[in-house]
Amino acid sequence: MKYLDEFRNEVQASILAERIKRATKHSWRIMEVCGGQTHTIMQYGLQDLLPAEIELLHGPGCPVCVTGLEVIDKAIAIASSKNVIFCSYGDMLRVPGSRSDLFDVKAAGGDVRIVYSPLDCLKIAAENPSKQVVFFAIGFETTAPANAMAVKQAKRTNLDNFYLLVSHVTVPPVIRGLMDFSDSRVQGFLGPGHVCSVMGWGQYEELSERYKIPIVVTGFEPVDILEGILKVVHQLETGKSFVENQYSRAVTKQGNAAAQAVLDEVFVVCDQHWRGLGLIPKSGYKLSPEYASHDADLVFSTNAEPIRESSICISGDILKGIRKPKDCPAFGRECTPEQPLGATMVSSEGTCAAYFRYGRLEICS
Ligand code: SF4
Repeated sequence: MKYLDEFRNEVQASILAERIKRATKHSWRIMEVCGGQTHTIMQYGLQDLLPAEIELLHGPGCPVCVTGLEVIDKAIAIASSKNVIFCSYGDMLRVPGSRSDLFDVKAAGGDVRIVYSPLDCLKIAAENPSKQVVFFAIGFETTAPANAMAVKQAKRTNLDNFYLLVSHVTVPPVIRGLMDFSDSRVQGFLGPGHVCSVMGWGQYEELSERYKIPIVVTGFEPVDILEGILKVVHQLETGKSFVENQYSRAVTKQGNAAAQAVLDEVFVVCDQHWRGLGLIPKSGYKLSPEYASHDADLVFSTNAEPIRESSICISGDILKGIRKPKDCPAFGRECTPEQPLGATMVSSEGTCAAYFRYGRLEICS
């Protein structure tokens, strides 16, 4: 299949791995931003193809992993309310809140439904006018435009029983946060291909210049990732730092103007709390005042529950690139994809889940 087979080509991958080996003269630490890239790295064992001098760090680009605990608790409280149909992507149902998860709500009789698009929820809202239908709108700049379109359509069609519980996060501020972090170990980034297909790679130039760090916007197949690593290594070895676009089959400098316009219309930028990383200024979206009547955060009042993260979980350090899942004593023991203690074990894009699925030898002895 075009655009897939050629980027999963074993011969091409071997050639790139050899070129990386030849180009690498020093030790470098490179972070892939996206959870999808982490998944590919683990699935295809790409770290094993690299010279020992290249260490891959796994970044905060799994939306399920970084959604704040207080938002999960709020989702659970809303989903438990009478007269509510709560809709979400499947991954979010197993994310542990302070005391329970959305699967527990469903098991207790709550009307919690897995959907594949916010547009499915518009249909559910239209079919159930006496119910309040809430969609859990999480994710990066990739999922935000579809959520914005859904609420725009709800407003246009007077679908007053449709709400979004919004917890969107954006990539450039978290890169800034990671680089400002005093223990930062990152020397180069594989940039987020899908996010850049919406927002364009141009917005990463300021970050690359400010932190003197290579950023190579990269796709999600093995050949994409090896090509991205090679480009980062070339920059690092020659003392250069600029933005390069490996994923040119999907990404332009300007991005998708229509998607950006709907984001600007429906959302405003806000400070956001990232699970494991804390509050990052101007790193999220919330609904603009014009859409306040569809904002579940404003419409539903819930009792704030005490926030209690697992004391064992080190997913915050993993998301910062300071530690790896093998450093967690619970990895593969108390914490598994079936019984996750922390959010990075829940989604297939989560670093702990990817290590568990493809790198079980990493379990602590
Ligand atoms: S293995 Fe589980 S407990 Fe340990 S860091 Fe990962 S998610 Fe947290």
